[in-house]
Amino acid sequence: MRILIVDDEPAMHDSYARSFASQRGEGADALDAMAADLFGDDDAADDAADVLPDFALTHCNQGLDAVAAVEAALAAGDPYSVAFIDIRMPPGIDGRETAKRIRALDGQVNLVIVTGYSDFSPIEISKVAGPADKIFYIAKPFEVAEIQQTATALAKRWEVDRELSSARALMAQQIVQLEEQGLELAANESRAIHIAMHDSLTDAPNRLFFLRALTERTKRDGLFATAMIDLDRFKLVNDTLGHLAGDALIRQIAEILQHSAPEGALVARLGGDEFGVLFDAPGEPAAEMACDRMVAACSVNLTVFGNAVQAGASAGMVVVDGAQGTDPIDVMRRADLALNDAKRQGRGMTRLFDESMDEGIRFRRRIESGLAGSIEKGELSLVYQPIVKRDTIEIVGFEALVRWNTTEYGPISPAVFIPIAEETNIIHELGDWVLTESLKVLARWPGQYVSVNFSPRQFRRTNFVGHVMESVQRAGVSPSRVQIEITETAIFDDAERAAETLYKLRQMGFRIALDDFGTGYSSLYNIRKFALDSLKIDRSFIDGMGRERESAAIVHAIIHLGHALGLEVIAEGVETAAQVQLLRIAGASHLQGYFFSRPVAEDIACGLAERRFIGEDANDGAGTIELGDGTNG
Ligand code: C2E
Ligand code: CA
Ligand code: CA
Repeated sequence: MRILIVDDEPAMHDSYARSFASQRGEGADALDAMAADLFGDDDAADDAADVLPDFALTHCNQGLDAVAAVEAALAAGDPYSVAFIDIRMPPGIDGRETAKRIRALDGQVNLVIVTGYSDFSPIEISKVAGPADKIFYIAKPFEVAEIQQTATALAKRWEVDRELSSARALMAQQIVQLEEQGLELAANESRAIHIAMHDSLTDAPNRLFFLRALTERTKRDGLFATAMIDLDRFKLVNDTLGHLAGDALIRQIAEILQHSAPEGALVARLGGDEFGVLFDAPGEPAAEMACDRMVAACSVNLTVFGNAVQAGASAGMVVVDGAQGTDPIDVMRRADLALNDAKRQGRGMTRLFDESMDEGIRFRRRIESGLAGSIEKGELSLVYQPIVKRDTIEIVGFEALVRWNTTEYGPISPAVFIPIAEETNIIHELGDWVLTESLKVLARWPGQYVSVNFSPRQFRRTNFVGHVMESVQRAGVSPSRVQIEITETAIFDDAERAAETLYKLRQMGFRIALDDFGTGYSSLYNIRKFALDSLKIDRSFIDGMGRERESAAIVHAIIHLGHALGLEVIAEGVETAAQVQLLRIAGASHLQGYFFSRPVAEDIACGLAERRFIGEDANDGAGTIELGDGTNG
């Protein structure tokens, strides 16, 4: 380690030299050399004499020389650890000034002020050459040991400080690096998100972005418009000028839309030549005007790769209120329907969605209004499908199934109109009619029951039990000849109340069947709670029985469960002799399906009821007995 000594008296330099030389005692060097000869090892000698660190001394007589030495040492990368500085050094700068200048160059070096006078208070020197913990004082004349200890302690400290500060510098550098990497990662991530949410051709938000924004918007109150804008004759540009021209056109249109859209609007490229625009609007007229402006802006002559292109666009738009819990996909669908309408109507225009554009809604409305008058118009009828015992093929009952033959559209399946009737109140009127009609026919059958379907809504009607009982009494039939078919959904939505209703019905003597069993969510275990007579295994399982392991397993499980609970198990939708065979083995107690008979008109049902048995031989392996259906003839 290097030590700097500044003193104007040559005698002082001698005392310093002695102080550091005496560290190893007289003749130490000679001993070292002998030890090295004897043991061939330099360290042995070193170990023995190692009292002080190795110091390299620099002697200066004047302050300025010392300052220059410090500068040179720093430049050489080998700075001083300690500097001993005399205070009075005429004719040059004094010790205070020397200390100040050295400190200005080197913040680390320990300064030891060596003085016989107390001309400067320590504080004063610290002020100009601080910090105070790097300035020390020794009075002249000094002891050898004093110089040695001070030099050793300060040199060690200097070394530790240096290591610490280089470790600190390294850490600071690593922190900077980490911060830089963090920034880079964040930038990469936001770039990735940007790429995922934007269209690469136009850099506009893409469909995903649009759908997200729309979904968010549907959760907030207030009216907003969703417009879909599609270029007219885009295909022509693509086909005649090429795809690059098409791309260029898309880019120009994206820009035009961005500029002509209302403030705050989101303009996204949904794909191809289709754009979506989302914006808040006070009402339909304002939204339509805003959309018209965009469409008008698109109707311009553009130059694409030197070719003149007459651009144009059509728009479909829907305005909805976010408060109404609108489904974003449905909003898109409606805007799209409106766009289709705009295209049909002759392009270059905005069309506002209305329900007449929605085939689904139109159809529903027609069914609804048609159903309302169907009873008076005598368009409804019932057909009956036999339910037979597994072994004897004796007919124990008939399921009543409603048919609607419209004058306008011909027959419509109950699978279509029952759900619609159920969403409106028409189901009650319709259900009453079915019950009344099916009870009438009982008088014509020797003893079979009629199985009537009830929708969940009917079942949940207040005083359902009283209502059914009243109908039965009015018809003068025994409740034991009426089977009530309900589905799992009807009873599991409010299981407690349903259990009570079923219990009452059963007390009165009605038969209860759980319809479409296996398609709902009821746990097999839960059905114990309900007073039932039979389970009807859904047609889909019977259909899959020969083909899929799962279906066969479910059928077996249901039949076992039914037996365990003492219930009849009716297999629905039996169409083939093979299914009959499998169901017999599985143990179903009753069967129903085209294999035995399609649902048939009242008169044919009466004939079957009189005969009581369906001859299996009547099938002749043809699969079904054609007895004629009310509709599916
Ligand atoms: P569901 O209660 O499951 O009725 C059984 C359906 O399966 C009937 O269809 C019947 O014609 C059909 N089917 C019977 N055997 C076979 C067969 O071997 N193969 C095939 N592929 N199908 C068979 P439908 O008459 O079209 O009735 C459909 C649904 O409409 C019924 O399903 C029922 O949920 C509802 N429905 C029918 N009539 C009424 C009613 O009067 N009131 C209520 N609430 N719903 C009814
Ligand atoms: Ca049924
Ligand atoms: Ca069924």
